Amino acid sequence: MISTKGYAAQSAVSDLAPWNFERRDVGPHDVQFDILYCGVCHSDLHQIRDEWGGSIFPMVPGHEIVGKVKKVGAHVKKFKVGDLAAVGCMVDSCRVCEECKDGLEQYCSGTGMVGTYNSREKDGTPTYGGYSNQIVVHEDFVLHVSDKLSLPAVAPLLCAGITTWSPLRHWKVGKGHKLAVLGLGGLGHMAVKFGVAFGAEVTVLSTSPSKEAAARQLGAHKFIVTSDPAQLKGVKRYFDFILDTVSASHDMGLYLSLLKTDGTHICVGVPSEPMPIHAFNVIMGRKSLAGSGIGGIPETQEMLDYCAEHNIVSDIEIIDMKYIHQAYDRMLKGDVRYRFVIDMATL
Ligand code: NAP
Ligand code: ZN
Repeated sequence: MISTKGYAAQSAVSDLAPWNFERRDVGPHDVQFDILYCGVCHSDLHQIRDEWGGSIFPMVPGHEIVGKVKKVGAHVKKFKVGDLAAVGCMVDSCRVCEECKDGLEQYCSGTGMVGTYNSREKDGTPTYGGYSNQIVVHEDFVLHVSDKLSLPAVAPLLCAGITTWSPLRHWKVGKGHKLAVLGLGGLGHMAVKFGVAFGAEVTVLSTSPSKEAAARQLGAHKFIVTSDPAQLKGVKRYFDFILDTVSASHDMGLYLSLLKTDGTHICVGVPSEPMPIHAFNVIMGRKSLAGSGIGGIPETQEMLDYCAEHNIVSDIEIIDMKYIHQAYDRMLKGDVRYRFVIDMATL
């Protein structure tokens, strides 16, 4: 076993604190790498506080992981020692169901995907995430990262990036479309970058007036403060798509009213409570309410390669491991520009 240093929550009400644990030895198909940076996703906070139910403790969060390969198993073909490597939200799946064969491992209908943390390997061992100094993962779930990009700024692509890339690609959002990005946080700012890169007209719908200048710098064409009815009136029945990245309960009827006829509201944010919707909100205008979860392994690699080619990374604030509690407090207030990334050298 490989002794590993990490930061863990011991229960839903305890703060993260240093915790040592063991990872499995490197198997024939495994890649072991030193974690250099790990992004801080709002999902980390939802899960350490058990807001979605069923959390497994102790929990080492973190699923935006980048680092350098230290050891590879005898049969590993894709990686060698010294390569840059990354891991996102999953570390395994059944590999044989229709979804896995289609590269949609996140929707695995066999055993279900194995999450990078707060999940269990097929043998029942709990998985521990990226707030730690190293990780061992089957090579099929390890991604290549270009050395052309800033490594800490790549980390958030592994969740915030792919979670916004995947629906925009699936619904073929691009030229001629009016896209609204609801919530300008970690996911939201990547949605703006990708929406702009794909040629859509992008509007940010935000609760924070102070984010307007930054939104425009990210490439957004319009910025609407959602608490201002006058501004909202100007975008009634306006959008083809709304990509909803909001982490807390919000008024779905209000946002559905901003869609054109045949428009689609795509949920990626996961508030802990269900949100009521009146049937008329989708009946009038034949609207669709949809959702999307992270992205498969092939499309994650495609997204990383696209980002390397087009020089797209996340806008980040690098933090020490000890700052994590303040980072969570700021994230809850929407005060993130636009992703915290932990420097693992500070663990
Ligand atoms: P984040 O950085 O905290 O951003 C969320 C943003 O939502 C905030 O910055 C804020 O933007 C807005 N917001 C917060 N509270 C709000 C409220 N009460 N009403 C309206 N807007 C509010 O979080 P994140 O890391 O981007 O994650 C966003 C959500 O996506 C989380 O629920 C996370 O768990 C989920 N997620 C889902 C997937 C998936 O596969 N579907 C993957 C990753 C994360 P403004 O200041 O602009 O209003
Ligand atoms: Zn995430």
